[in-house]
Amino acid sequence: MSHQMVKTTVNPLPNLGLCPTCDREIKIRRDGNLQAHGRPRGSDAPIVCDSNGYALTGCTGSSRQPAAQLEPTFARWLWTHAARRDWRDNRIAYLAGAEFRGCTRSPNHTPLDVPWTTADELHDHLHKRQAARTGSEIRQPYNGQRCDWMCRDVETAAAQYAQLLTEREVAR
Ligand SMILES: [Zn+2]
Ligand SMILES: [Zn+2]
Repeated sequence: MSHQMVKTTVNPLPNLGLCPTCDREIKIRRDGNLQAHGRPRGSDAPIVCDSNGYALTGCTGSSRQPAAQLEPTFARWLWTHAARRDWRDNRIAYLAGAEFRGCTRSPNHTPLDVPWTTADELHDHLHKRQAARTGSEIRQPYNGQRCDWMCRDVETAAAQYAQLLTEREVAR
Protein backbone atom coordinates (compact mmCIF):
# COMPACT_ATOMS: atom_id res chain seq x y z
CA MET A 1 0.00 0.00 0.00
CA SER A 2 1.31 3.39 -0.94
CA HIS A 3 0.44 6.42 1.10
CA GLN A 4 2.63 8.74 -0.90
CA MET A 5 -0.29 10.68 -2.35
CA VAL A 6 -1.54 11.63 1.11
CA LYS A 7 0.83 14.46 1.88
CA THR A 8 -1.86 16.97 2.57
CA THR A 9 -3.15 17.79 6.00
CA VAL A 10 -6.90 17.99 6.32
CA ASN A 11 -9.28 19.81 8.62
CA PRO A 12 -11.27 17.93 11.27
CA LEU A 13 -14.99 17.37 10.80
CA PRO A 14 -16.71 20.71 11.40
CA ASN A 15 -19.09 21.21 14.30
CA LEU A 16 -21.70 23.50 12.77
CA GLY A 17 -25.03 24.74 14.02
CA LEU A 18 -27.93 26.56 12.43
CA CYS A 19 -28.25 30.14 13.70
CA PRO A 20 -31.82 30.76 14.97
CA THR A 21 -31.62 34.40 13.81
CA CYS A 22 -29.93 34.46 10.41
CA ASP A 23 -30.37 30.82 9.30
CA ARG A 24 -26.70 30.57 8.41
CA GLU A 25 -24.39 27.67 9.24
CA ILE A 26 -22.09 28.84 12.05
CA LYS A 27 -19.33 27.07 13.97
CA ILE A 28 -20.26 25.83 17.43
CA ARG A 29 -17.87 26.79 20.25
CA ARG A 30 -16.60 24.42 22.87
CA ASP A 31 -19.27 25.64 25.30
CA GLY A 32 -22.00 24.52 22.87
CA ASN A 33 -23.01 28.03 21.76
CA LEU A 34 -22.61 29.57 18.32
CA GLN A 35 -19.48 31.52 17.48
CA ALA A 36 -19.92 35.29 17.22
CA HIS A 37 -20.74 36.30 13.65
CA GLY A 38 -21.81 39.43 11.83
CA ARG A 39 -25.30 40.48 10.89
CA PRO A 40 -26.27 39.20 7.47
CA ARG A 41 -25.75 41.75 4.71
CA GLY A 42 -28.88 43.60 3.75
CA SER A 43 -30.55 42.60 6.98
CA ASP A 44 -33.51 44.79 7.92
CA ALA A 45 -33.68 43.38 11.43
CA PRO A 46 -33.87 46.14 14.06
CA ILE A 47 -30.56 47.24 15.61
CA VAL A 48 -30.17 45.69 19.03
CA CYS A 49 -28.30 47.37 21.89
CA ASP A 50 -26.54 45.69 24.78
CA SER A 51 -27.21 46.58 28.42
CA ASN A 52 -24.80 49.54 28.17
CA GLY A 53 -26.62 50.98 25.19
CA TYR A 54 -24.02 50.05 22.58
CA ALA A 55 -25.40 48.90 19.27
CA LEU A 56 -24.54 45.28 18.62
CA THR A 57 -23.18 44.85 15.11
CA GLY A 58 -23.07 41.09 15.40
CA CYS A 59 -25.92 38.74 14.62
CA THR A 60 -28.13 38.38 17.69
CA GLY A 61 -27.82 34.64 17.30
CA SER A 62 -24.12 34.93 18.29
CA SER A 63 -23.17 33.12 21.50
CA ARG A 64 -26.56 31.43 21.65
CA GLN A 65 -27.63 27.86 21.35
CA PRO A 66 -27.95 26.71 17.73
CA ALA A 67 -31.46 26.02 16.43
CA ALA A 68 -30.11 22.68 15.25
CA GLN A 69 -26.79 20.90 15.15
CA LEU A 70 -25.77 20.11 11.57
CA GLU A 71 -24.29 16.86 10.31
CA PRO A 72 -20.72 17.34 9.06
CA THR A 73 -21.53 16.35 5.48
CA PHE A 74 -18.82 16.00 2.84
CA ALA A 75 -19.81 19.42 1.43
CA ARG A 76 -19.58 21.15 4.83
CA TRP A 77 -16.25 19.49 5.59
CA LEU A 78 -14.77 20.36 2.18
CA TRP A 79 -16.03 23.93 2.57
CA THR A 80 -13.88 24.43 5.71
CA HIS A 81 -10.83 24.02 3.43
CA ALA A 82 -11.80 26.86 1.10
CA ALA A 83 -10.11 29.47 3.32
CA ARG A 84 -6.85 27.57 3.76
CA ARG A 85 -3.75 29.35 2.53
CA ASP A 86 -1.86 26.22 1.49
CA TRP A 87 -4.04 25.58 -1.57
CA ARG A 88 -1.02 25.58 -3.87
CA ASP A 89 0.29 22.34 -2.30
CA ASN A 90 -2.90 21.01 -0.74
CA ARG A 91 -5.08 19.28 -3.34
CA ILE A 92 -8.10 19.24 -1.05
CA ALA A 93 -7.82 22.96 -0.29
CA TYR A 94 -7.40 23.59 -4.03
CA LEU A 95 -10.55 21.60 -4.80
CA ALA A 96 -12.48 23.44 -2.07
CA GLY A 97 -11.31 26.79 -3.44
CA ALA A 98 -12.33 25.85 -6.97
CA GLU A 99 -15.82 24.73 -5.93
CA PHE A 100 -16.64 27.33 -3.29
CA ARG A 101 -14.70 30.39 -4.37
CA GLY A 102 -14.33 29.99 -8.09
CA CYS A 103 -12.82 33.04 -9.71
CA THR A 104 -12.10 35.87 -7.33
CA ARG A 105 -14.88 38.03 -8.67
CA SER A 106 -17.65 35.58 -7.87
CA PRO A 107 -19.15 35.67 -4.40
CA ASN A 108 -18.05 33.00 -1.96
CA HIS A 109 -20.35 30.04 -1.89
CA THR A 110 -21.36 28.08 1.18
CA PRO A 111 -22.48 24.45 1.40
CA LEU A 112 -26.05 25.77 0.98
CA ASP A 113 -25.21 27.23 -2.45
CA VAL A 114 -23.84 24.13 -4.12
CA PRO A 115 -26.08 21.45 -5.68
CA TRP A 116 -24.15 18.53 -4.16
CA THR A 117 -23.72 17.16 -0.64
CA THR A 118 -21.74 13.95 -0.97
CA ALA A 119 -18.48 13.22 -2.79
CA ASP A 120 -20.36 11.07 -5.32
CA GLU A 121 -22.70 13.95 -6.05
CA LEU A 122 -19.76 16.31 -6.50
CA HIS A 123 -18.19 13.83 -8.92
CA ASP A 124 -21.46 13.66 -10.92
CA HIS A 125 -21.62 17.44 -10.82
CA LEU A 126 -18.14 17.72 -12.40
CA HIS A 127 -19.24 15.56 -15.31
CA LYS A 128 -22.56 17.37 -15.73
CA ARG A 129 -20.71 20.68 -15.76
CA GLN A 130 -18.36 19.31 -18.37
CA ALA A 131 -21.34 18.16 -20.46
CA ALA A 132 -22.96 21.60 -20.17
CA ARG A 133 -19.73 23.26 -21.35
CA THR A 134 -18.61 20.90 -24.06
CA GLY A 135 -21.58 18.63 -24.86
CA SER A 136 -19.68 15.59 -23.54
CA GLU A 137 -19.14 14.17 -20.06
CA ILE A 138 -15.59 13.20 -20.98
CA ARG A 139 -13.16 15.36 -19.04
CA GLN A 140 -9.99 14.30 -20.86
CA PRO A 141 -10.95 14.64 -24.53
CA TYR A 142 -7.32 14.28 -25.66
CA ASN A 143 -7.26 10.63 -24.61
CA GLY A 144 -10.96 9.86 -24.18
CA GLN A 145 -10.71 9.20 -20.44
CA ARG A 146 -13.99 9.99 -18.69
CA CYS A 147 -12.24 11.15 -15.49
CA ASP A 148 -9.38 13.60 -14.98
CA TRP A 149 -7.23 14.84 -12.10
CA MET A 150 -10.11 16.75 -10.57
CA CYS A 151 -12.17 13.53 -10.32
CA ARG A 152 -9.17 11.93 -8.62
CA ASP A 153 -8.95 14.86 -6.18
CA VAL A 154 -12.61 14.28 -5.29
CA GLU A 155 -11.76 10.63 -4.71
CA THR A 156 -8.80 11.54 -2.48
CA ALA A 157 -10.96 13.98 -0.51
CA ALA A 158 -13.70 11.35 -0.17
CA ALA A 159 -11.20 8.86 1.25
CA GLN A 160 -9.93 11.41 3.79
CA TYR A 161 -13.49 12.27 4.78
CA ALA A 162 -14.39 8.58 5.20
CA GLN A 163 -11.31 8.17 7.40
CA LEU A 164 -12.47 11.03 9.67
CA LEU A 165 -15.95 9.50 9.97
CA THR A 166 -14.39 6.17 10.96
CA GLU A 167 -12.20 7.86 13.55
CA ARG A 168 -15.25 9.62 14.97
CA GLU A 169 -17.09 6.31 15.29
CA VAL A 170 -14.10 4.73 17.05
CA ALA A 171 -13.85 7.67 19.46
CA ARG A 172 -17.50 7.38 20.48
ZN1 LIG B 1 -26.80 34.49 12.98
ZN1 LIG C 1 -14.92 11.56 -13.13
